[in-house]
Amino acid sequence: MLPVNEAEAIILNEAQPMGVSDTEIVDLWEAVGRVVAVPVTSRLDFPHWDNSAMDGYAVRYADVSQCSAENPTILDIIEEIPAGYAPQMAIAPRQAARILTGSMMPSGADTVVMQENTRTEGSQVYILTAPSQLGAFVRRQGEYYQAGAPLLDRGTLLSAPEIAVLAAAQCVQVSVFSKVRVAIISTGSELVSPDRPLQPGQIVDSNQYALAALIEQAGGVPLMLGIVPDNPQAIREAIAEATQIADIILSSGGVSVGDYDYVDSVLADLGAKVHFHQVAIKPGKPLTFATFSQSMQPEGRSVLYFGLPGNPVSALVTAWRFVVPALKKRSGLAAGWQPKWAIARSRQPLKSDGRRETYLWGQLIPTPQESEFELATGSHSSGNLINLARTNALAVLPVGETQVKLGERVKVLYF
Ligand code: AMP
Ligand code: MG
Repeated sequence: MLPVNEAEAIILNEAQPMGVSDTEIVDLWEAVGRVVAVPVTSRLDFPHWDNSAMDGYAVRYADVSQCSAENPTILDIIEEIPAGYAPQMAIAPRQAARILTGSMMPSGADTVVMQENTRTEGSQVYILTAPSQLGAFVRRQGEYYQAGAPLLDRGTLLSAPEIAVLAAAQCVQVSVFSKVRVAIISTGSELVSPDRPLQPGQIVDSNQYALAALIEQAGGVPLMLGIVPDNPQAIREAIAEATQIADIILSSGGVSVGDYDYVDSVLADLGAKVHFHQVAIKPGKPLTFATFSQSMQPEGRSVLYFGLPGNPVSALVTAWRFVVPALKKRSGLAAGWQPKWAIARSRQPLKSDGRRETYLWGQLIPTPQESEFELATGSHSSGNLINLARTNALAVLPVGETQVKLGERVKVLYF
């Protein structure tokens, strides 16, 4: 059986990022969660012009460099420069302009004296303290960013801070990678969709919804292809259709070694390259990974196929562990697509049979000292999905490790 890290390496090697042919232009309003495809630059300097960092007086340093409370310099106030106003007058020797924070510096002035170090009398200002240096309290044009320099690189995920940068740079449209399309197929003649009456012996298809939610959260577009009965022809048609519309295909069920498990044989039949069909992971041992290369995909990338176990817990655990990083890497992200790991102190004793890498679900709880892992209460059977609710992390016991004692540290995969 393939070790988890080897399975991961094979998958991530096949999950090649989107390229230039998979891009679209979106309005900034719709860009949150998207990934920058074409590096962004701005025509604007930041700050756009010299401006004041304080409320006070724009002055010429040479006029005020020697002054003190006993020996103030007296300057004529020739103009007031509130926010949003372009100064009309140049500052000549022994002149000053009243200026407010963020306002544009008038020509001729090179330094700002903060209001607290001045006193005004009529149209004159007394400078009571010499500024520390030439240019004090002036934010220089281009000090933070110079027009034309890289602003956001390709592969940057757009969240609130990046959206702020783009808005300030007046980039109201942005070129992003297309979202990764993920087809989802539920196999099993016993399955019924959640909105249909449940007959004796049937099982509700929760995987379709769970996987669609996970894909959406990971930034992909779920294409819900519905339930397919355990019938090789029906499975073949569903997978063939999926290869035409998706970048990644997820099926659940039908990958064990039971009499009705047809996925692997259909994949071989359709010309897919099956990389492995069992991984030493618990839950989730029957896990098929295959690639289709004769696809419609641009730039020679293959369609990734994950045949997940049908068991709802196994399906989600294997999707968290393998599918989400592959999807994020495929989406063009330059960083942050790898699984996130933490070390946490376990609040409960954890157990494993030591034969497969074991994933126990629960919560990672940050504390001011050290993060802690709280094991979900109830049965950790892969058939029990009820106690999966509120899971935000999986504690991992490597092969050969049979227990983690209460209070000991454990490696945790968190989302
Ligand atoms: P299988 O991998 O097809 O042998 O399925 C293993 C177990 O998971 C069986 O009890 C199935 O009924 C159940 N199962 C399979 N597919 C789903 C699904 N889409 N939603 C919920 N349970 C499922
Ligand atoms: Mg089945």
